[in-house]
Amino acid sequence: MWHRRILNGYWALVLVMLAAQLVFVLSNHMPEVKSAILPGKGHLFIACNIMIVIAMVLAEMWLRTAVQYHKQVVVGCGFIVSYLMYFVLEPFVDGAQMTLMMPIMIALIYFHQKLLHYLGLFSIVFYAVVYFGLERILLDKPLLEFFMVECVFVVFVVMGRMVIIRAREVRDHLEQLTKSEQELMVERAISDKLLKIDALTGLYNHKTFHEYLDSLLEQCESNGLQLQLALFDIDNFKRVNDTYGHWVGDLVLKEVAAKVKGMIGLNDFAARYGGEEFAVIFTDKNFHEAYAAVEEMRLAISRMEHPYAGGKPITVSIGLCDYQLGDGKELLFRKTDNALYAAKHGGKNAVITASHSTREGTVYA
Ligand code: GH3
Ligand code: MG
Ligand code: MG
Repeated sequence: MWHRRILNGYWALVLVMLAAQLVFVLSNHMPEVKSAILPGKGHLFIACNIMIVIAMVLAEMWLRTAVQYHKQVVVGCGFIVSYLMYFVLEPFVDGAQMTLMMPIMIALIYFHQKLLHYLGLFSIVFYAVVYFGLERILLDKPLLEFFMVECVFVVFVVMGRMVIIRAREVRDHLEQLTKSEQELMVERAISDKLLKIDALTGLYNHKTFHEYLDSLLEQCESNGLQLQLALFDIDNFKRVNDTYGHWVGDLVLKEVAAKVKGMIGLNDFAARYGGEEFAVIFTDKNFHEAYAAVEEMRLAISRMEHPYAGGKPITVSIGLCDYQLGDGKELLFRKTDNALYAAKHGGKNAVITASHSTREGTVYA
């Protein structure tokens, strides 16, 4: 991505430079200049331009076809083009040394501190060679110019280094911020869960149950959604507590809750409604399916083994009610409660429905 952009930048620069030269040559306004590479006819001058184009085309081809070393190629091509451009521009343009700063700028774009140091050092050495090998001998350039250019290199590298360090600081700070934001989100999710879940059984708590039921009943009224409510109450639970202790009672509660949770469908909702009472809401079943589901749960619970509680079965009584549109929450509860009450009074360990009865002749709603 950035390789492409940098190379595009170089292309733009090269094309502008070539166009400028063309205009310059066409205008027939050739000034007298002293140049390291232009002592005679200017064929070296043309050769430099050709080499620039070749370097650019090669880099372009590499970027389009090869999959590796894009960065190295872009940096290398940038270096070659910068220096060749310098030789082309230097006779005509004051401050052509500016083009030599471009490779250092590339290191800055990559935010690569090592590359910045290497390119900086290389530029300093390379320019020294160019100056003492060519410019001083052939053009008699003042030493001050050499020092100035080298100083600018050093200043560029030092400032570039500061930019990279500063950018890293900002990046670290941002990372830290993102991290603490993520931690906060996790904490919020955990505390959210803690607020919604009953600690002993892992089922939803009473408050969440009511909130959920409220929103479901709203949907029932507006979209005609089907809904059934079942209230479970563990039979003779006080006796379990009294006989085996409270902690055994807790264990039984946990196991019965786990059984209920394990048997409900994905769209069903189970909550701990009270001490040893659970509520289940069905939303994607018809009444018969819901009845079959709770009956299956009742049977499964009665078949569970509890060796620590004397090995006797633990049973539940269940009241089930099919929501009738327009009933509202209060009536729904009253009907379900009545059904549960009927199950208790009919001998416990049974499912009684609010509209029909599992025992003959009993209609409670
Ligand atoms: P029934 O068959 O009529 O429901 O009789 P029951 O004994 O289950 O009903 P009752 O309402 O008399 O007693 C419920 C008991 O549940 C009383 C209370 O000590 C116990 N209980 C409620 N919450 C907890 C709990 O979190 N842990 C334990 N161990 N016991 C609890
Ligand atoms: Mg009870
Ligand atoms: Mg009970």
